[in-house]
Amino acid sequence: MLTCKALTLRQGDFALRADLTFADGQVTALIGPSGAGKSTLLAALAGFLAPVSGQVMWEGHDLTQTAPGERPISVLFQDNNLFPHLTIAQNVGLALRPHLRLSADDNGKVSHVLKQVGLDGFETRKPAALSGGQQSRAALARVLLADRPVTLLDEPFAALGPGLKDEMLDLVQRHLRAAGQTLIMVTHDPADAKRIANQVVLVADGVATKPLETNALFTNPPPALADYLGAG
Ligand code: ADP
Ligand code: MG
Repeated sequence: MLTCKALTLRQGDFALRADLTFADGQVTALIGPSGAGKSTLLAALAGFLAPVSGQVMWEGHDLTQTAPGERPISVLFQDNNLFPHLTIAQNVGLALRPHLRLSADDNGKVSHVLKQVGLDGFETRKPAALSGGQQSRAALARVLLADRPVTLLDEPFAALGPGLKDEMLDLVQRHLRAAGQTLIMVTHDPADAKRIANQVVLVADGVATKPLETNALFTNPPPALADYLGAG
């Protein structure tokens, strides 16, 4: 399990506290107003932001000083996930080989996952030759191929239309949940949370709450969620 142990994060004047555990195999939606610190929390989990105090723990080990690439975590950011000078196959293949020396077997895996996200035949294209939605799907393919115990998604499907977005959510759920992997997904859309997340962490007013069961939460929303839903 992944634990934020008395974590305090700071970006400029902004501060966020988090003291919670993401149990193995759970799908968690992070919901909260814009600027509440959702991306900040993911950055700290992934190792791109050092906490002011507290620790990030994984299966009882302290990860706080561990470099991003050494963590059992892969992450899909809000944007800029693809390297413009690499082909789609190379961008996806980075999940297997950071130095891009892909074997025939690796190339087969890349093609397989591209097919799963509906991008078969796009191997040799550069990201600029893809639409925004296709780019998000290529970035998703890399995360799926990385196959880490924990996957962090930061509003990855914002560029997709509703039908395709649901398709991608279902794909993520099938792929990761079937393997017992832990998924933490930022979304501003309560429908996304209801679709795939069994629990929700609210990020608001400088605090990330402990996970709350999705159905119970939306049936009887606490004030921070009611405010957010009302404003949305
Ligand atoms: P969210 O993802 O919930 O929309 P963020 O985590 O991106 O929110 O941002 C949380 C707060 O941190 C915001 O108030 C934002 O202005 C601030 N912030 C984010 N990045 C930086 C930075 N590099 N320097 C200073 N403040 C930042
Ligand atoms: Mg954000």
